[in-house]
Amino acid sequence: MLDVARLRADFPLLAQRENGHPLVYLDNAATTQKPQAVLDAIAEYYRTTNANVHRGAYDLAIRATEAYEAARAKVAAFVNAWAPEGVVFTRGTTEAINLVAGSYGRASVKAGDSVVVTAMDHHSNLVPWQILCQEKGATLRMVEITEDGRIDLTDFGRALERRPKIVAFPYVSNALGTVNPAAQLTGLAHAVGAVVVVDGAQSTPHLNVDVQALDCDFYALSGHKMLGPMGSGALVAKPDVLEAMPPYHGGGEMISRVWDDHSTYNKIPHKFEAGTPNVEGAVGLAAAIRYLERIGPERIAEHEQALAAAAIERLSQIEGVTVYGPQARSDRAGVVSFTYGDIHPHDIATILDQDGICIRAGHHCTQPLMRRLNVAATARASFYLYNGSDDVDALAGALVKAGALFGYVPA
Ligand code: PMP
Repeated sequence: MLDVARLRADFPLLAQRENGHPLVYLDNAATTQKPQAVLDAIAEYYRTTNANVHRGAYDLAIRATEAYEAARAKVAAFVNAWAPEGVVFTRGTTEAINLVAGSYGRASVKAGDSVVVTAMDHHSNLVPWQILCQEKGATLRMVEITEDGRIDLTDFGRALERRPKIVAFPYVSNALGTVNPAAQLTGLAHAVGAVVVVDGAQSTPHLNVDVQALDCDFYALSGHKMLGPMGSGALVAKPDVLEAMPPYHGGGEMISRVWDDHSTYNKIPHKFEAGTPNVEGAVGLAAAIRYLERIGPERIAEHEQALAAAAIERLSQIEGVTVYGPQARSDRAGVVSFTYGDIHPHDIATILDQDGICIRAGHHCTQPLMRRLNVAATARASFYLYNGSDDVDALAGALVKAGALFGYVPA
């Protein structure tokens, strides 16, 4: 286990009390708290380096550009990208996937083609493909999940028989915690000629990600889920695939020459970064990565898996609680989705909040998945490196109290 007390001291917000109780923050799949090192890097950037990037002839602007490009190299190295120019900064996973759908998808998908997604995809990795398929007259094929919350490989194989143009899936499910066999799925999709889009929103903060080993074509990530600032993130892509794609947004930065009626475009990645970028976000994300690297992605993954396993064990002992997703510890990340009898998940979250415990309740932007689980919503606790077994105790204790309130467990 990680030294949680020491890590917590790095996160000013975690010292806060909520509703008179020490804060127990268990909504890390939604967003993570920021260490002082990230706050300092952002403040330092504005104190010493701020200028617009890529266009200044003066030293300050050159230093701002260097900081921005160094952040790109840092993201590239963290996920073992093919090259820094294969990293396009975006507002997050949602924008990264919309970029792929709006550029690569629009250029390559035609009427009668198919695009494959899974029943556990976040709306971010579903709605952009719905829009594309509706526009093109293509078919969107949703692969089913198994009883224990994994991608159904038999159905995945059936979906590939149609030789889809694009196959998209999450590396880690935000609603079930399932760690999908991303390299295997990519290999199967490539064998039928599909291009592969991996939603890495939940994997990048928690696993040791190597996009070259996965061999996917596109990989999307969100900075705010990995200790970085809101509005930071990236699309990581194979440079040759990116090179061949038409632009996504038009404007400054992304052009080479502009005439009255047409333009030529900048080199990658700048071709996909129209307008003034979020330099503060990139600098903060690089600081977050440096922080994560000091601890080590493997240790983080192990820590979260241990906490999730402990939470599942404790929750399973509470009569009326159902935990969703794979039971094997090795196949899941630190996300524990559950229901408690017929207590509405929002009621559970509200009751826990009274004890300073923050969990998520709702459909987690996975409505098709909720339908398959036959629930409208679940409660979700999601762990990160600064959570400890005391947080698991707090969660289990507060749930027992909630149960008592609703008459499930004797008080
Ligand atoms: N995909 C998954 C699996 C997610 O968990 C999330 C965030 N909840 C997203 C995509 C969207 O990420 P963002 O809101 O940062 O764009």
